[in-house]
Amino acid sequence: MKQVEHIGIAVKDLETSIALYTKLLGVKPYKKEEVASEGVMTVFFDAGNTKIELLGATREDSPIAKFIEKRGEGIHHIAFAVDNIRNKIAEKTAHGFELINSEPKNGADNKLIAFFHPKSTGNVLVEICEEKG
Ligand code: ZN
Repeated sequence: MKQVEHIGIAVKDLETSIALYTKLLGVKPYKKEEVASEGVMTVFFDAGNTKIELLGATREDSPIAKFIEKRGEGIHHIAFAVDNIRNKIAEKTAHGFELINSEPKNGADNKLIAFFHPKSTGNVLVEICEEKG
């Protein structure tokens, strides 16, 4: 794994949270992008050495809506940058980690992404992401 590429935060109301994080971080978001397949709208802030990704549900059956229903707003996942996501999935699977999607999928911000199952990562949802060329 390389650096923490971003921290994903589940929010109920994007506009409210955009205002909050703009004030908190002292910068405006640099990107807003829908990931329709996941039922999520993402908003990115540059937070110096990492990024903050706000996640708002765009439909009721979105994983983000379900997460907020169960656990409320807050930190949803931590994403680590990797050079080769397929190699990393194979390596970590061999070490006993379980992936939610073992085939990388398209994420926001020009990334290929995969999630580890939280039951194999101490109840923390961990994402790995590779910048698409
Ligand atoms: Zn993410």
